[in-house]
Parts: sequence; C-alpha cells; structure tokens
Amino acid sequence: MRKTVLAGNWKMYKTQAEALEFLKGFVSHLEDTPDERDVILCVPYTALGSLSKNLHGGRVRLGAQNVHWEDCGAFTGEISAPMLTELGVDYVVVGHSERREYFGETDETVNRRLKAAQAGGLTPILCVGETKAQRDAGETEAHIFSQLEQDLVDVDQSKLIIAYEPIWAIGTGDTCDAAEANRVIGLIRSKLSNPDVPIQYGGSVKPTNVDEIMAQPEIDGALVGGASLEPESFARIVNYK
Ligand code: PGA
Repeated sequence: MRKTVLAGNWKMYKTQAEALEFLKGFVSHLEDTPDERDVILCVPYTALGSLSKNLHGGRVRLGAQNVHWEDCGAFTGEISAPMLTELGVDYVVVGHSERREYFGETDETVNRRLKAAQAGGLTPILCVGETKAQRDAGETEAHIFSQLEQDLVDVDQSKLIIAYEPIWAIGTGDTCDAAEANRVIGLIRSKLSNPDVPIQYGGSVKPTNVDEIMAQPEIDGALVGGASLEPESFARIVNYK
C-alpha cells in the first residue's frame, strides 16, 4: 500500500515571518484533507525552527531542502541531519535539479546525502529527471535509470520517497503530460527493489492540473514549487479531487 505524499518545495522563498503567515492561512484549509495524505513543507533552513514550534503537532510535516553527509565538520554553508532533526524536521529534498545544475551536486554526493539523511532519521525525497535535450535525444529512460542506479547504492528503500521531475517542466508552466509522467514513474518503479516507495511527479503542478496528475495510477503525490507559495493554491493541490 503506497502512501500519498504532497510536498511543497519553497526553494529560496519566504522569510521566517512570511513562512509563519503562510502557515496561518494554510492550516485553516486542511480540516477536510483525508488523513492518508501526507502534507510536507520543504522550507528554507531559517524558517524551520519557528515553523516547527507553530505546527502544534498538526498534520503538516517539515522538510529541509538539502543535508550534508557528515554530522559536523569544516563544511562552510552546509547543514547536517542532527541539526535538522533537532528542529523537528522529518524529510529532506536531495538531488534537486537546481542543486545538480547550479551547485555541483553529483550522483556520488547525492548518494552520500541520501545515506546520511536516513542514518540521521530523515526520510529523503530523491529528485530525478531529464533535461529537454535528453528527452529530445530519446535519452530520458537511460538518464533516469543511470541516476537511480548511482544514487540508490546502499540506500534503504523502505525510508525513501522519489520525485520524478522533468527539468524542462520545472518552473516553466510547461507540465509533463500526465500520461507520460505516469509512464516514466512506472518505469522508475520497475527499477526499485521495494515497490512501495511513493513516487511523486514534480514540474509546474498547479491547482488546475493536479486532479488529472493525481488520477494517474502510478503517481503517488506531487512535489510543488511555485504553486506551493500561496496558502490557497497549495491547499487546493493538497485537497485534489
Ligand atoms: P515548480 O517546481 O512546481 O515551480 O515547477 C517544482 C520543483 O522544482 O520541485
């Protein structure tokens, strides 16, 4: 039985005060959200502490957007799993395409971060996906399979979420066709040793397309960037029909 996981990825948006303001507006829309849907906010590090104190044990869970592979050390600018779990963080995004593209994240560092997240008690959300050029060249499957093969070495698939995020669909308004996302996610699942890993779709998920995306049998949730920044918009996504 696979879980349904709806996660907002705020990227580098919202100060602490703005995050608290969001939360106030957002939770009021969750009264009728079915219990079996996990709702996660992956927010900037600076907002984690105060959001954590204001969740009041409610149904929103917290995620970070990266984690280092060591618990501590001379790694300027990095954050470790114990630092996150102390704040009440349960999830962490690992290997987002923006980290891979702009910050030199490789499959090797993604693998190390995944293992450290799990060892520290966090559930990682591993992002994989192809560029437009790879899709046009017919390399989508090969690229994603290569990412999975390298990223998942010695990773515990019982404490894992995967997000399929075609890079050309991220922040572009250009959503991957729901049936195509379903197809690729089915292929990803065929490569896993645990068939129960929840696999999300990410890339321009919005209130207007979430119902169609979530109706696909292989798609277990969504990783939502831009449309998770407004309480009403993300609530509509979480409360998909
Ligand atoms: P988007 O971002 O929803 O704004 O396309 C998704 C993501 O990067 O996780």
